[in-house]
Parts: sequence; C-alpha cells; structure tokens
Amino acid sequence: MRILVVGAGFSGAVYARTLAEAGHDITVIDKRPHIGGNAYDFIDANGVRVHHYGPHLFHTKSHRVIDWLTNFAEFITYEHKVRALLPNGQLVPIPINLDTVNAVFGTDYDSAEEVEVHLARVALPIAAPNNAAEYLQSKIGVELTDLFFRPYTKKMWGFDLEDMASSVVKRIPLRMDRVDTYFSADETQILPCDGYTALFGTIFDHSRIRMYLSTAFSHEMLRNHDFCFNAMPIDEYFRFELGDLPYRSIRFHIRTEAGNVVPEAPVTNFTDTGPFTRETAWDALPHHRVEETGRRTLTKEEPCDYRDNGMERYYPVRTADGRYQALYEKYKEMAASEPNMEFIGRCGTYQYLDMDQVINQSLTGAERWLKRR
Ligand SMILES: Cc1cc2nc3c(=O)[nH]c(=O)nc-3n(C[C@H](O)[C@H](O)[C@H](O)COP(=O)(O)OP(=O)(O)OC[C@H]3O[C@@H](n4cnc5c(N)ncnc54)[C@H](O)[C@@H]3O)c2cc1C
Repeated sequence: MRILVVGAGFSGAVYARTLAEAGHDITVIDKRPHIGGNAYDFIDANGVRVHHYGPHLFHTKSHRVIDWLTNFAEFITYEHKVRALLPNGQLVPIPINLDTVNAVFGTDYDSAEEVEVHLARVALPIAAPNNAAEYLQSKIGVELTDLFFRPYTKKMWGFDLEDMASSVVKRIPLRMDRVDTYFSADETQILPCDGYTALFGTIFDHSRIRMYLSTAFSHEMLRNHDFCFNAMPIDEYFRFELGDLPYRSIRFHIRTEAGNVVPEAPVTNFTDTGPFTRETAWDALPHHRVEETGRRTLTKEEPCDYRDNGMERYYPVRTADGRYQALYEKYKEMAASEPNMEFIGRCGTYQYLDMDQVINQSLTGAERWLKRR
C-alpha cells in the first residue's frame, strides 16, 4: 500500500520504519526543514550539541522500546540531574529529596523516616484534592508547594495551581532519601551517542521510505495514498471547526559564555517569579561537547502561549475542569469517520507523551494496523 506519514518525529518514524519493513511504500512529509520532530538536535558554532526544542532525556521502563530503539544507534547511560536555584542563591536537588528538605527548613535529617515525619507534619489534611494546589499541599505542605511549584507552574502554564488538574503534578516524584537523579523510577536512562538527529537518520534510512522536508500537509495529498498516519494537530486538520485545542509553548533564549567549567547538573530550575523556568548547560550532558572551542552554550526557557510563538505547539493545556480534553474527544469522534486516516503522536492525540510513550504507542498502533490488513 502507498502510505503517507505526516510528521518526521518519533511517532512518524516508528510508523514509517515498521510499515516499510512490512513491505509498504512510505512517503514521510514534515513542514519543518529537519527530521526528528521536537527531538531534533544539532552541533552549534561553539562545538556544542544543542537540542533545538529543549533538553530531551530518554528514560523508560519498557524493554520493548529499548529493544526497538537500540537497533538504530549506539547509546550511553546517563542519569539526569536537575538543581533548583533558591532565592538565597543556593542550588538544591530537584525532585525534592532529603537534602532539599534540610536546605529549605534548616534541618539536619539523615534518614528517610525523619523526612517522612517532617512532611507528614507540614502536609495539609486534604483527603480528596480537587486541584494541583490541594494535591501538593496534601503531600508536602504549603511552604515547599509555594517555593518549588507555585511560581514555576504559573510561568510554565500561565495558570495558578488552583486552576490546574492534580494529574499535572502527580507526575512529579518526591524522594525521602539522598538520591538526586531526576528519573530515578526508570531503570533505563540513555542518550544517543551521536545525537537524536543521527538516530532519526538511521530509522528513516530504508529503501521503501521517501522523505520530503519543508512540506506541509494538504488534503490533496490523500488522493495519491491509500492510508495516512497523521501527527499534525487534529484541530488543524479539521480546520478548527469546533474551536482551537490550545498549547503552551516555549521561547528559547540561547547564549554563549566563555570558559569550560561545567556545572554538576545540566539543568537549573528557577524558583523566582521572573519569566524563565529553567536553563540548560548543554556541555554538562555527555557527548554534547563535540569540539573544544573555549565557548559554552546555554539555553533559557520562557514559556508562553503557542499563539505568541509562531504556533509552536509543545504542551497540551490541562485545566482542572478538563474542558480541552472534552473538546479533543469531539475531534476524535470526527476523526472516526475518516476511514483511511489515523491520528498519531502528541498533537494528533492531544496529549503530552514522553518519547518512550510515543514509541510504545506507535509500535502498538503500527502492529495493530498490520494485523488488520
Ligand atoms: C520542551 C520539551 C522537552 C521535552 N523533553 C522530553 C524529555 O526530556 N524526555 C522525553 O521522553 N520527552 C520529552 N519531550 C517530549 C517529546 O518531544 C515527544 O515525546 C516527542 O517529540 C513526540 O513525538 P511526536 O512524533 O508525537 O511529535 P513531534 O516530535 O512534535 O513530531 C511531529 C512532527 O509533525 C510535524 N507536523 C506538524 N504539523 C504538520 C503539518 N501540517 N504538515 C507536515 N508536518 C507537520 C511537525 O513539524 C513535527 O516535526 C519534550 C517535549 C518538549 C516540548
């Protein structure tokens, strides 16, 4: 069959490769001038590998995802670390752990039990939290909530914690011990040795895959194809008939700094009320200093509405009342009446997905489709 894949990110890459290997002829298009979707990276003039759309750290519990991905590149193990910059200039581990609690409360705890007792004492007795603020206060109390989550969330989402679903903050882990790695729950944490763009190059390198970059989807393209897997925003496909599905976006502020002293943790979160959420020091990530130039590259992130950033859609918006997810469900019903089209990935299904989740869902989707043929 002649299959059109819209989007050269992870979802499109998994479908394209899996279906090409099954003997189908695949056309991949992407409106951007590069492959890799939001995982695209490049080496800049400072000799540093930079992730164009913010730091992408690969972490997973899924053996199936690792088995598939490691066919296409060499990877190195890398356990990611993040520090939060407190108003007094101190850098403390994030997610909150024993050392974070000691730094904030001036305590001298040495065991998980002591931290548990402390948090139980400061936590508010809210049995059924109605929103993100209540959820956090019921776990860590008001002070830690206001320091680490209130300004950050307002900057990130443009909403107060009270207006957000608790599901948004339930993803944030909390440690009672001294472990200071960001994704400690995931047994595999890796980075592609030569970067994500090279990884995508290998995934798309198949005789049955043709790639057209700087090519936006148009409805006429469907005439020349038997089926379409579509990672474009589902509301855009239906010409926003039912209204917009909103996203948060990020403006990236890149700067060069002289020197070669790298920080202990590549990412610093800002707890203040200024516009920036975090800064990434790219050369603190392994295999990201590609050439010695005596110059470093750092990127600060300023979240904003996607309409204020060239319609760059990054994070689907989740409010406490779930109104946009309800709107997405209506678009999904419309999509069910398109017999030769399946919406895939982050914008096709209007959900935030980590890379491993996108790969897993796409492997399942492609296999299911092949079985039905
Ligand atoms: C700032 C940021 C940081 C992240 N960090 C991490 C992380 O550390 N770890 C992690 O696991 N995940 C992370 N993610 C998530 C990761 O980016 C996604 O899981 C992944 O990119 C999803 O792949 P996708 O194919 O669904 O979407 P995308 O990567 O967005 O690919 C979709 C592609 O479709 C193209 N497209 C859209 N519309 C059209 C159209 N009309 N015509 C043609 N092409 C079109 C787009 O140009 C895009 O290239 C992060 C995401 C963001 C935004």
